Amino acid sequence: MALIVHKYGGTSMGSTERIRSVAKRVAKWMRAGHQMVVVPSAMSGETNRLLGLARELSPELPGAATLRELDMIASTGEQVSVGLLAIALQAEGLEAVSYAGWQVPIRTDSSFTKARIQSIDDTRVRADLAAGRVVVITGFQGVDGDGHITTLGRGGSDTSAVAVAAALKADECLIYTDVDGVYTTDPRIVPEARRLATISFEEMLEMASLGSKVLQIRSVEFAGKYRVPLRVLSSFTDWNIDITEEARSGTLITFEEDEKMEQAVVSGIAFNRDEAKVSVLGVPDKPGIASSILGPVADANIDVDVIIQNVAHDGKTDFSFTVHRNDYARTVELLKTQVVPAVGARDVSGDARICKVSIVGIGMRSHVGVASRMFRTLSEEGINIQMITTSEIKTSVVIDEKYMELAVRALHRAFDLDQPAG
Ligand code: ADP
Ligand code: ASP
Ligand code: MG
Repeated sequence: MALIVHKYGGTSMGSTERIRSVAKRVAKWMRAGHQMVVVPSAMSGETNRLLGLARELSPELPGAATLRELDMIASTGEQVSVGLLAIALQAEGLEAVSYAGWQVPIRTDSSFTKARIQSIDDTRVRADLAAGRVVVITGFQGVDGDGHITTLGRGGSDTSAVAVAAALKADECLIYTDVDGVYTTDPRIVPEARRLATISFEEMLEMASLGSKVLQIRSVEFAGKYRVPLRVLSSFTDWNIDITEEARSGTLITFEEDEKMEQAVVSGIAFNRDEAKVSVLGVPDKPGIASSILGPVADANIDVDVIIQNVAHDGKTDFSFTVHRNDYARTVELLKTQVVPAVGARDVSGDARICKVSIVGIGMRSHVGVASRMFRTLSEEGINIQMITTSEIKTSVVIDEKYMELAVRALHRAFDLDQPAG
């Protein structure tokens, strides 16, 4: 007997018919002798619908709304899901009980809309499991020290599931979704993308942080920290599929170091349209410039990603960086009103229509010339690179958003990702 955590995403929970199929699948696992905890998301579209209602009352979110109220609203989607799933499980003849985050409790800090899980009390859940119940716990939400409901950021149910699995020392956490695993890139953009049977933890962490929304980044961090065996697989197979076959399907996140050294240099391509670029023009080129530009930005709680400082001409230079698109207008305003007068710069310019495309692979450590192949491929497509950033196992470029799909497809071909792995 093993203790297994299943997580079902929004599409997998998208209708009562889908929920019935989830219940039948969970019942199959239960009858195979396992203890089961299930963490569902809100039904697809529901979180957007709920936040849309808030937006009708306060068009520029958070606007007049406080983030606390947004969490109060958005968390209800998952509450509906757990109740429905528990009923569907009961209809399958199982004993099932549903819990909201605060009932477990899943404790978080108080950063509304992007709270971090601090601890999970397993007492109640363990008692239910021991009594033979399926425990259904809301994804995406928790409770802070003052009893306020919090949410974990979009896509946060992945993190709830992995954190619950870590707290219970579960034997495996299975993330059921609408694709049958982690692909070389988003199969919606590149139909030739291939499913990876395994992906290293480090690569998955980069893929998630660089924009592959198949797993929320914090869920991968949790899996690494607590060594949670993690697999991504499809909820759209027949629920009745042989359980041994199902348990081996999808993509396993592996923790062994050198496993893939001899294989593909690049394992996957990620992209992200969530950033915007800002430039401070005509900055006097002298020591301390980076800190006098980025200091006020950090003080305003704005995260900066890619940074580039150009070569100076006549003692002046341009300084560019990217921020989340939600922070774009605020950043431009702050630079114009505070930074430009303080550092004696000429002006500020910005571009919200950029995207970041990244190649990821632990094989890049032991191979040279990978980045230059990336740059050559983009130049052959006539795509101008605006910014570059590299680390040991990834290279990212910032380009015009309109070339995103072209770039991803060209790179996918250039690194032979559409060919079966050798
Ligand atoms: P869920 O609702 O189950 O959490 P998500 O929409 O959050 O599902 O994540 C699954 C989606 O992630 C897929 O439908 C796919 O379009 C997208 N995706 C992005 N990058 C990848 C990738 N490398 N491999 C697989 N899916 C990816
Ligand atoms: N329902 C939440 C969202 O749409 C959490 C999740 O689906 O993981 O972001
Ligand atoms: Mg998701």
